[in-house]
Amino acid sequence: MSESTHPRIREVLSRLPAYVPGKPAAAPEGLTAYKLSSNENPYPPLPSVLATIHDAAGAVNRYPDMAVSALTQALADSLGVPAECIATGTGSVGVLGQVIQACCDAGDEVVYAWRSFEAYPIVTTVAGAVPVQVPLDDGHRHRLDAMAEAITERTRVVLVCTPNNPTGTVVHDAELREFLAQVPRDVLVVIDEAYLEFVQDPEAPDALAIWREHPNVMVLRTFSKAYGLAGLRVGYAVAHPEMATALRKTAVPFGVNSIAQAAAVASLDAADEMRQRVDALVKERGRVGDGLRDQGWDLAPSEANFVWFDLGEESSEFTAACEAAGLMVRQYGTDGVRVTIGESEANDRLLEVCARWLAH
Ligand SMILES: *Cc1c(COP(=O)(O)O)cnc(C)c1O
Repeated sequence: MSESTHPRIREVLSRLPAYVPGKPAAAPEGLTAYKLSSNENPYPPLPSVLATIHDAAGAVNRYPDMAVSALTQALADSLGVPAECIATGTGSVGVLGQVIQACCDAGDEVVYAWRSFEAYPIVTTVAGAVPVQVPLDDGHRHRLDAMAEAITERTRVVLVCTPNNPTGTVVHDAELREFLAQVPRDVLVVIDEAYLEFVQDPEAPDALAIWREHPNVMVLRTFSKAYGLAGLRVGYAVAHPEMATALRKTAVPFGVNSIAQAAAVASLDAADEMRQRVDALVKERGRVGDGLRDQGWDLAPSEANFVWFDLGEESSEFTAACEAAGLMVRQYGTDGVRVTIGESEANDRLLEVCARWLAH
């Protein structure tokens, strides 16, 4: 009999960092505050999407469609893949949790680059699997050769984040294909494309083509970033049928709610308007990047909707300078600071803070 007077919580949880959410925007007096800490889309929902959300809200006394049929079919049509290859979840973080649960027993290994997305160690550890982190190179890019070497008998999943959150770098199509040639057929490679819509680098991977050619590849995407539905929690995988079936088995029942399903379908219907917004954000990213380079900053080129400041020990001070100017940003300990591309006024303010920083 245990002596403990408390319900016992799994030991492994004590090793987990609690997920740090982006700070809410807090305004110093007389300034508009901007939240640039969670890579959100600064645009409010499109009117057509908002109207759909409003209509769907009238039916929330009913459970959602458990099979997520309309959204699955809409995704299949827009991507040109069979519906049986789509699996949805509560954001792509939700889908990622389903992936680890579907593939990993206790002690199995999940390989990914580091720094990368903060949810990776969390979903891995919660499932009882073991994170294997492979440091990025000096240019803040994935070292796919080292990741291939990190694969062992216990490896079940490799996560490739492209563009990488928080550094913004992409892997290239050719190096990803070379990497895949070295990965055992029974190891799943997940290509996390949360920021795909912002990518312009012609050498970036054609993940769906790679998926078609490799039975052990899966592509992960989300409506949270470019599509601006972060608050509704809907993401999906493009997976081979057996894996997609496994993901449906490990899904939270009715996890993707009816409002989220309807809004995601409406967003796919409004793809042209979405594209215009994404193009505007990409243009802003270019403007911010050029401005920073003109100031003298040496930054990794970002293919996503954020920029990475590799500031090391100065990260806290830079974060404080941003906050004093009303910009909420995401600090990663003593590694660096990630700043989301937001409204153009917010981006202007960032350029001002950065110019002052270099002069201080
Ligand atoms: C934001 C993000 C996601 C998506 O999160 P959701 O759960 O879909 O909101 C997935 N992967 C990476 C790398 C991200 O940065």
